[in-house]
Amino acid sequence: MNRRVMLRSVFRCLRTNPVSCQRNMSQSSLTGKVAIVTASTDGIGLAAAQALGKRGAHVVVSSRRQANVDKAVALLQSQSITVTGTTCNVGKEEDREKLVQLTLDQCGGIDILVSNAAVNPFFGNIMDSTEGVWDKILSVNVTSAFLMTKLVVPHMTKRGGGNVVFVSSVAGYQPMQALGPYSVSKTALLGLTRALAPELAQSNIRVNCVAPGIIRTKFSSALTGNEDIMDEFKKQMSIKRAGEPEEIGGVIAFLCSEDASYITGETITVTGGIGCRL
Ligand code: NAP
Repeated sequence: MNRRVMLRSVFRCLRTNPVSCQRNMSQSSLTGKVAIVTASTDGIGLAAAQALGKRGAHVVVSSRRQANVDKAVALLQSQSITVTGTTCNVGKEEDREKLVQLTLDQCGGIDILVSNAAVNPFFGNIMDSTEGVWDKILSVNVTSAFLMTKLVVPHMTKRGGGNVVFVSSVAGYQPMQALGPYSVSKTALLGLTRALAPELAQSNIRVNCVAPGIIRTKFSSALTGNEDIMDEFKKQMSIKRAGEPEEIGGVIAFLCSEDASYITGETITVTGGIGCRL
C-alpha cells in the first residue's frame, strides 16, 4: 500500500470509528513478524494463529492432516489474515525441518514460535502406563517442543530476537486423575521454559508459557461434555465455566508482543481462577 492510500484509509477510519481504529492500530503491533504455531488447525492453536494474525503477523499453520490445514488456511484468509499452511506432525524430525524450511522460503524469516502440539494416548492409573506410552507422550509433548525451539532459534537470532511460547496445562501444576503421564509432560514444559529463558535472553529471545485450564475444544470434550466432571471442576473455578480457545490465543499474542517485553521464563495460568502452584 503506498503512503497516500494508507493515510487516506487511516483518516477514513478515524472519521467513522475513532475507538475501534485506536484498537486496531495497537493490535497491529506484530506487523512484519512471522509466527509458526504448531498444531494450529483447531482449538487453542488455531485461536493463537488468529490472535497473532489479527495483530499483523504472517502466521504459518500446520497439523498432521492436509484437509485440516486447508480448512484452517481458508478460515484465516477469510478473516484477512496473512497465512501459509503445511502438514507437520511435530513428532517427526523431517516434518519439523520441512515446516521451518517452508517458513524461511515463503516468509523470509522466523520471529515467533508457539509450540502447542500435545497428545494423550493414555487414560488410567499411572502405574498401568507403559514405556511406550511414556515415550510417545514425552517425545511429542516435550522433546519436540525443545527440538522445534532449537531449529528456530538461529533464525530468530538472525532477526535480532524473537519469542517462544509453550502451551502447558493446569494439569502441569496439579496432575489430573487418569492423566498422569500427560500431566507430568506438562510439568516438564514449565521447567523447559525456565531452563531456556536465561540462555536465550542473550539472543534477545523471550521464552514463556501458558497453562490453560479447562478450555472448550475437541481435546477436552470428554471433560467439558460431562456435566458431573464439569460440576467438580467448577467448584475449583472462580469463573464458573469452561474457557474458550480465544481466551488463550489472546494471552499468547500478548506474550509475543512488545507489551510483554520484560516478561521471560514465566508461565501464565489462564484457568478461570483454578489455584495453581507446584
Ligand atoms: P484440539 O482442539 O483437539 O486441537 C488439536 C490440534 O492439534 C489439531 O489441529 C490437530 O490437528 C493437531 N495435532 C494433534 N496431534 C498433532 C501432532 N502430533 N503434530 C501436529 N499437530 C497435531 O486441542 P486443544 O485443546 O486446542 O489442545 C492444544 C494444546 O492445549 C495441547 O498442548 C493441550 O495439551 C493444551 N491444553 C488444552 C486444554 C483444553 O482444555 N483444551 C487445557 C490445557 C492444555 P490434526 O489432527 O490434523 O493433526
